[in-house]
Amino acid sequence: MPELPEMETYRKLLNEQIAGAVITGTEVTRDKSINVSPDEFQQMLVGRTIWYVERRGKHLIFHLDNGKRLELHLMLGGSMFFGSEEEKPDRTIQVTIRFEHGNLYFIGLRLGHLHLLSVKELEGALAKLGPDPFDKRLNAAKFADLFAKKRGTLKASLVDQQVLSGIGNCYADEIVYAASIRPDAKIPTLESGDWERLHTSMHSVLKEAIARGGYMDQPFTAADTLTGGYDELCQVYDRAGESCRRCGSTIEQIEVASRKAFVCPSCQKE
Ligand SMILES: [Zn+2]
Repeated sequence: MPELPEMETYRKLLNEQIAGAVITGTEVTRDKSINVSPDEFQQMLVGRTIWYVERRGKHLIFHLDNGKRLELHLMLGGSMFFGSEEEKPDRTIQVTIRFEHGNLYFIGLRLGHLHLLSVKELEGALAKLGPDPFDKRLNAAKFADLFAKKRGTLKASLVDQQVLSGIGNCYADEIVYAASIRPDAKIPTLESGDWERLHTSMHSVLKEAIARGGYMDQPFTAADTLTGGYDELCQVYDRAGESCRRCGSTIEQIEVASRKAFVCPSCQKE
C-alpha cells in the first residue's frame, strides 16, 4: 500500500504535470470509487483548473479553482498514471480526468476512493488524522507523547493513522530497524532514548525514501525514472530469508498485531 513517501512522490509529479491545468473531461467506470454520480462529477470538474496538489498523511488533496477539493486515498492496490491513451498501462482504470496535454488515470481504485468535497467536508473527513511525521512542531518529546497512553506493540501504533499519519507496513518496519528496536516491542517498555532514536530514524528513513521515489515501482509517466527507487534500499521489508546488510543474520518474517513484520533478530532488540 502506498505510504507517505509514495504519496509525496505522486504529489511532486502531479504538481509538475497538472498544477494550473484545466480539466477538459472525466470518465468514471466504477461509480463506487467516487462519492457523487458520474454526471455530477463531470459537471463539477470540467472547465475547472487544478491549482495544486497537497498531501496529508496518505491522502492527496487536489485544490480546484471553485473552492472544492478532490480527496484521494489509494488504499491497497491503487495507483495513478499520467499520459496519453497509447501510453497508459494495460490495467482496469476506474476514473480518468482529462486535460489538454494528457490524461490522469486512477488505477486499481477498488478499496480506495476519489471524493469531491467542500472544504468543510474535507476537514471532517480528515479530522481524526494524527500529525504528519514532518510537522515542524513534532519534536522528539512531542513524538514520544503521541504514544504515552498506548499499551500495545510499537508497530501497531506506528501504523495507526490517528496516532501519526502517513506510515504503514513498509516504513514502520524500516523505521524500527533503523532505530534498532523490534516492531513487536511493547510500548511501555520503551525509554526516552528509544523514542529519540525512533524520531530520528523516522525522519531519515522517510526523507531518503522520498528522495528515491518510494518503494512501489509503477511509474507515473512513461518518462518517470524517480518512482520506486527506494525498493532496493529497503533493509528488512519483504526481505524474509535474505541477509541483514548490517550484520549478515537472516531477516525473519513475524506477525505483530495481525500484520506481517520483518525483523533482523540480531540488530533489533526487544
Ligand atoms: Zn542485522
